[in-house]
Amino acid sequence: MTTPSVLDAEPPNLTAADAEEVARTMFGLTATAQPLVSERDQNFRLADDGGKDWVLKVSNAAEERGTVEMEVAAVERIAARDPGLPVPLARASLSSDPIAEVVVAGTSHLVRLIPWMAGRTAEPAELDEETIGEIGAVVARVGRALRGFFHPAAGRVILWDQQRLPLLFRHAGLVEDPERRDLLDRVIARLEARVLPALPGLRAQVIHNDITLDNLMLDGTGHVSGIIDFGDMAHTALVLDLPATLQSLVRGRTDVFAVADAFVAGYASVTPLESAEAEVLGDLLAGRMAQTILISAFRTRQYPDNAYIHGWAEPAWELLEQLDEIGFDEAAWRMAAIARAPLAHRVPTEPLLDRRRRVLGSALESLSYRHPLHLVRGQGAWMEAADGRRYLDAYNNVPVVGHAHPRVVAAVARQAATLNTNTRYLHEHVVELAERLVAAMPDGLDTVMFVNSGSEANDLAWRLATSFTGADAGIVTDWGYHGVTAAIADFSPSEWPHGEQPAGVETYPAPDTYRGRYADADDPASVAREEIIAAVARLAERGRRPAALFLDSTFTADGIFVPEPDVVAGLIGGARDAGALYVADEVQSGHGRTGEMWGFARWGVTPDVVTLGKPMGNGHPVAAVLTRAEIADRFGSRTTFFSTFGGNPVACAAALAVLDVLEDERLFAKAAAVGDELRSKLRDLAVHHPSIGDVRGRGLMTGVELVRDRATREPAGDVAARVKDEMAEHGVLIGASGRHGNVLKIRPPLCITHDEAALIASTLAEVLD
Ligand code: PMP
Repeated sequence: MTTPSVLDAEPPNLTAADAEEVARTMFGLTATAQPLVSERDQNFRLADDGGKDWVLKVSNAAEERGTVEMEVAAVERIAARDPGLPVPLARASLSSDPIAEVVVAGTSHLVRLIPWMAGRTAEPAELDEETIGEIGAVVARVGRALRGFFHPAAGRVILWDQQRLPLLFRHAGLVEDPERRDLLDRVIARLEARVLPALPGLRAQVIHNDITLDNLMLDGTGHVSGIIDFGDMAHTALVLDLPATLQSLVRGRTDVFAVADAFVAGYASVTPLESAEAEVLGDLLAGRMAQTILISAFRTRQYPDNAYIHGWAEPAWELLEQLDEIGFDEAAWRMAAIARAPLAHRVPTEPLLDRRRRVLGSALESLSYRHPLHLVRGQGAWMEAADGRRYLDAYNNVPVVGHAHPRVVAAVARQAATLNTNTRYLHEHVVELAERLVAAMPDGLDTVMFVNSGSEANDLAWRLATSFTGADAGIVTDWGYHGVTAAIADFSPSEWPHGEQPAGVETYPAPDTYRGRYADADDPASVAREEIIAAVARLAERGRRPAALFLDSTFTADGIFVPEPDVVAGLIGGARDAGALYVADEVQSGHGRTGEMWGFARWGVTPDVVTLGKPMGNGHPVAAVLTRAEIADRFGSRTTFFSTFGGNPVACAAALAVLDVLEDERLFAKAAAVGDELRSKLRDLAVHHPSIGDVRGRGLMTGVELVRDRATREPAGDVAARVKDEMAEHGVLIGASGRHGNVLKIRPPLCITHDEAALIASTLAEVLD
């Protein structure tokens, strides 16, 4: 391990007269010398007779010849590949080798003579966006020119290479201030968790690794006129050039992300970053700070008088403290967003919005949020917009196991690349999926029919119910939603045109535990029965009988309620007494949403029909109806059923992968635990925010009811709409539901972590403030 010993060894100790002597005898240059500062070598500025300036670089005695040869060769390579880059080509010595050797006080040192690079070094504060962008491009060009360059010395261990971070961690004990020590420990933990495992997978080559403002000369017009100090070169991750430069550009500045944006845009204009590089960029910046602090700490102990080394640590601490204040997670994702879509590649929303308006018509539901989001990718509980911003998805129950879950993606891709066909042929997938769904249901629900959407599933459930019962009306909650087909749109009062009730439908109020009859009743179960009996009676007045009670187990559109089981059992019992089937609409509440596999499990009643959709394929369209054989047979005796896409092998592959992931990642238990914790955090918020009237839900389906006044419980739908929009602007996506639109609907993917759930609560607190 050469380099640590270079850092350990005393720097060379030549006098200016020695330097002049070396220049003359070895390089044939008559000049006067002035010492320059350096960490571990010794440099002199030489002014020759002809008015030209040079730098005599005297390497540390412990420096290996190979390292110096590598530097010389790298500069030659850069000059050859990208002649526009101002790099210091070493001058040949009298022996024609650019590297000479000199013995001073019995110690041998390698020396080189390079041209003095004209220009001046800049301070971070004076840099404008354009210069920062140019510096970014220069850093990328140096990396590009070094692509494919190799020298055996590039494999040496150098502590300024973040691959070597573990060698530095042991010096953390030198930090005495307990707060800073704690900060450093947290950074080290992140580096161990996020950076070190990622580094071996990134693009690697020999890089400069130290293009800081100290090593960049700018000319009078602000353009780069010199790139110096190739002493920290290493064969390592290409992306490490970025934090090295960036830390220097942001020193003492508070607009870290604006600087990063301009810098990365410049870099990416030459070399776009890969997404794995973007992912770690923020942490690599923190890693560079940790390196600086740790190297400074042990070097300071070695050389208490070297002010140059002392000076490093403070700005590094300041930047780390700044990142800590923002939150390292937040900083990392903002940096990743910048790196994925740097300024130069940002897509404006307006043109797409116009095109969409022109072709998608006015009936399509309007876009979510005041400022429409143009989302381009998702991962876990996060989605990313075309402008690079990331959003925590706390709204979407479709990607139940997380956006773009690799196992689901792989299963879909594999099957799509193999065969996609229909259920008129034998295929394992559809049979296996049906078997697994049946196995996951209570006894009796033994038959599965596949369709493509929740609406179709409910439509088929309706056909099963009418054929089985001979009746022709449905009962639903008075602000429920069950889908879009002609029959099912009738069963979706929240969407009734002008609120007009179709003749074949009767409604009852959802069992609201916060206000209304149920909330005030001593025996809400008997209220439930009464409500259903009354609905049945209203149907009877019109000469109709109920074929089905459709019930969304989380009452999502109605406002998200969690009634006691006996209340819902009362509803179901009342409907069954009138001859109706109980259709458990699990399109929202199924697949673990409630912390259990099925939302209806809580009621202790086995449904006659269960409909599944939304989360079933994690985004791939697949839906199903489960029922008893006798019900399916009655339908089958009158007609046959076939859906072209229903149960196709690709859809089934997606659904099978979802079942696997739900199980393997234990997502039900996670949903239950994270959901409870989220609601407890939200209830804590209610202490300071009187607009929160009620917090309720189960698993990862949560409703936060906003009111104008807790005493009157007057719904505050306008506030909820604003909160929803502002949450989006703060990077957290939620919805609103209920008749008055005043219930915040928080329904993230089940893979959401405790920290991400905490971010929902803290963002809501900020917005309500
Ligand atoms: N049932 C419920 C409870 C729903 O929430 C929805 C969709 N929001 C549907 C059915 C209809 O599903 P799809 O949009 O897939 O047709």
